[in-house]
Amino acid sequence: MFDKILIANRGEIALRVIRACREMGIQSVAVHSTADSDAMHVRMADESVCIGPPPSTDSYLSVPAIISACEITGAQAIHPGYGFLSENASFVQILEDHDIKFIGPTAEHIRIMGDKITAKETMLKLGVPCVPGSEGGVPDLETAKKVAAEIGYPVIVKATAGGGGRGMKLAKTAKDIESAFQTARSEGKAAFGNDEVYIEKYLTRPRHIEIQVFGDGKGKAVHLGERDCSLQRRHQKVFEEAPGPAIDAETRARIGKICADAVAGINYIGAGTIEFLYEDGEFYFIEMNTRLQVEHPVTEAIFGVDLVREQIRVAEGLDMSFSQEDIEVNGHAIEVRINAEKLPDFRPCPGRITQYHAPGGLGVRMDSALYDGYSIPPYYDSLIGKLIVHGRDRPEALARLNRALGELIVDGVDTTVPLFNALLAEKDIQTGDYNIHWLEKWLETNLGAS
Ligand code: ADP
Repeated sequence: MFDKILIANRGEIALRVIRACREMGIQSVAVHSTADSDAMHVRMADESVCIGPPPSTDSYLSVPAIISACEITGAQAIHPGYGFLSENASFVQILEDHDIKFIGPTAEHIRIMGDKITAKETMLKLGVPCVPGSEGGVPDLETAKKVAAEIGYPVIVKATAGGGGRGMKLAKTAKDIESAFQTARSEGKAAFGNDEVYIEKYLTRPRHIEIQVFGDGKGKAVHLGERDCSLQRRHQKVFEEAPGPAIDAETRARIGKICADAVAGINYIGAGTIEFLYEDGEFYFIEMNTRLQVEHPVTEAIFGVDLVREQIRVAEGLDMSFSQEDIEVNGHAIEVRINAEKLPDFRPCPGRITQYHAPGGLGVRMDSALYDGYSIPPYYDSLIGKLIVHGRDRPEALARLNRALGELIVDGVDTTVPLFNALLAEKDIQTGDYNIHWLEKWLETNLGAS
């Protein structure tokens, strides 16, 4: 059993992990850059270590600094949160060599799923339906033209190493393929050091449905239903809900079983998310994330499971504390991502918080590292909080979200709260009738955003 865990992250997700540790009687170690000396995760952890200057490449992404922090404090395991080193296979390999436990999947599984081409090939073999597209990488423009014509326009060119919505370019017609191909390649090279790309059919009105899976690393795996994350801006999620308004119990059981069997088939360990586009009743795999997702609390809300606790348990070699039969949908949950950004162009808006008040009451969870007087540093992601509500059904969850947003006070910086207030007044949001393009169109019409 672990008695001390180091959290290689910051912000709300670091608090999330510290909380699970505390409930399990495990000591927590926070790491931080010099810009985060006053951050909440540093205050809340049992111990903290400064690991470098503000830029994340010199601190939160510095493998030697993080390993030294483990050695100094005697932490036996590292929880990576999401982002930063959470899907970095060579980091996990180095930890294995240093006898430090990584709370997450093996380096091999991270490597397979981190490369979208290998991930697709693996999933196809495991019986998971995929978006029609090129077989593997597309090496040159001539091949790209040929493959795109075969698939049929519109197509999307994707960097195999892409993530966070980057390295993806749409080609509506044959006229666009050259620039889509070149841009996806150069974005892949610049952002991820890998210029390999592949091509997929571009779906025109799908929903983004993702399945939460969990494996014990010993051949047993379960699914925890779906999350609908279709409300996106620039391929980034802003509002997520579970269960998905378009998914019924039979569909959930069918796709859930396919996913659980797939990860059981590779002895996957820990939490994972298999992402699909869903159109006309069909699922199409797009990628797998081998970590805890930002939006995991909606799943926790409807199933009453603590996913971080389970991650720690299986990393310790224990069994999961629940099985598939225990997983039954209870009500409806919604999460909104509150970013320090100024509308209408979503410009990051760091600065000092002059007043902070978190909403509360029945069915409300606010995951945030804010406090009165806190200064949001300009170096990191602009996510400053996640508001999660849970109700007996979707209308109750929506009403609760409306009420909770009304209670929330974040003064001193601009936030995305006004966006959610406006969205809640929309009929399509009230009825759950939206797809992955809905929000971009709405923003264009209502905020004149491009
Ligand atoms: P990333 O790794 O950057 O998050 P994903 O492959 O997960 O990239 O795709 C992110 C989002 O991009 C999806 O949720 C969807 O909105 C859009 N997208 C990806 N592939 C397609 C496709 N084939 N057709 C239409 N939209 C797509």
